[in-house]
Amino acid sequence: MNDSSVSVSAMQITIEARGPALRERLRDRLDRTGGLRCPEHGQGVIAVTIHDRENGWFDATWTTCCHLLEQQAAAVLKDRL
Ligand SMILES: [Zn+2]
Repeated sequence: MNDSSVSVSAMQITIEARGPALRERLRDRLDRTGGLRCPEHGQGVIAVTIHDRENGWFDATWTTCCHLLEQQAAAVLKDRL
């Protein structure tokens, strides 16, 4: 993690997958996730790490201000293509 970069609006996205397909297919969902704001703190998602699994499934690990925003983001991204 690089904490020295100051990034207010851009969500940091890390995708651990064998090829670019997962990132391309999640692009729309990730765009929407990046536009979310926490109803309590007004913050956006700070970072998400996505681990490719099998048969279109994936795991997402979120860095957010609180679980409210994380739940919203997870509902948008879901856990399967
Ligand atoms: Zn919050």
